[in-house]
Amino acid sequence: MTFKDREIQELQEVGLKEIRAAANPEVLEGLRVKYLGRKGALTQILRSLGQMDPQARRRLGQEANTVKQTLEEALAQALAAIKEAARRAAGPVLDVTLPGRRHPRGRLHPLTQVNREVCDIFLHLGFETVEGPEVELDYYNFEALNIPADHPARDMQDTFYFNDRVLLRTHTSPMQIRVMEKRQPPVRVIAPGRVYRRDSDLTHTPMFHQVEGLLVDKGVTFADLKGVLTAFLHEMFGPEVGVRFRPSYFPFTEPSAEVDIECVICRGEGCRVCKVTGWLEVLGSGMVHPAVFEAVGYDPEVYNGFAFGLGIERIAMLKYGIDDIRLFFENDLRFLRQF
Ligand SMILES: [Zn+2]
Repeated sequence: MTFKDREIQELQEVGLKEIRAAANPEVLEGLRVKYLGRKGALTQILRSLGQMDPQARRRLGQEANTVKQTLEEALAQALAAIKEAARRAAGPVLDVTLPGRRHPRGRLHPLTQVNREVCDIFLHLGFETVEGPEVELDYYNFEALNIPADHPARDMQDTFYFNDRVLLRTHTSPMQIRVMEKRQPPVRVIAPGRVYRRDSDLTHTPMFHQVEGLLVDKGVTFADLKGVLTAFLHEMFGPEVGVRFRPSYFPFTEPSAEVDIECVICRGEGCRVCKVTGWLEVLGSGMVHPAVFEAVGYDPEVYNGFAFGLGIERIAMLKYGIDDIRLFFENDLRFLRQF
């Protein structure tokens, strides 16, 4: 190895070390001039080869060219690395052409849908929607509705009591009293809302939804009750569905009737859902009891009217053929997405 060989090799070693240590493009450009420029170190060496014999000149010339290539490549790599580091330091690139993140579209709970449908039908029949408290006084929930203290509905097994006077309403019927206390006839309202009972199985949950209806005026007859409720059920379940009224008992109506529709599953043939009767109970109703009118100061000799109540879960189960009420409250999206 000659002196020149060593000089060329050292130049490569030192040059590479300096290039790799360079921190910015300006320093790199300085190194390029220093080693490869017209007056650079390598150029000087190549020039000095002129006086040498041809064989040594060719060998050293090739060597110097290899070093030149190595340094050029190292410069290019170092420059690319510096630019990449700067880009990363500047943070992620915002691509405004990328599509935005979509939010999955929600929909109304089936009970909300059915509740709105029920209210909508009565709205078209001339009823106004009112709402009232779920935490209710014993007076509104029972006493004013002609449900005496010894009535089984007051049993601790059925009702959530806070104390002797305050409870969670067991039905929406207290709204009858609350409305009549504030208004004079004619009254035509429906009151949807949550109600609470100590009950839980395939067809009962401790909280469920009812809609209460009340119509009070002069000369209201049982035929009006039948007409309004039949119109509602035909709107809800289709005009061809059979409707029947069965005598029943409620403390706050007299006479009282339970209302059935023809079984939506078997169309009256008889099946498991209707317990082979061909009929399904959907409503409780009756003419407002004179004692209830007296509780709110209406003269039962002048006014009469009818009241009714229905369960939203029950209507929804029949409408959609659902056999377990708990599905409504489990928030399983696979169930809820079907509506
Ligand atoms: Zn049936």
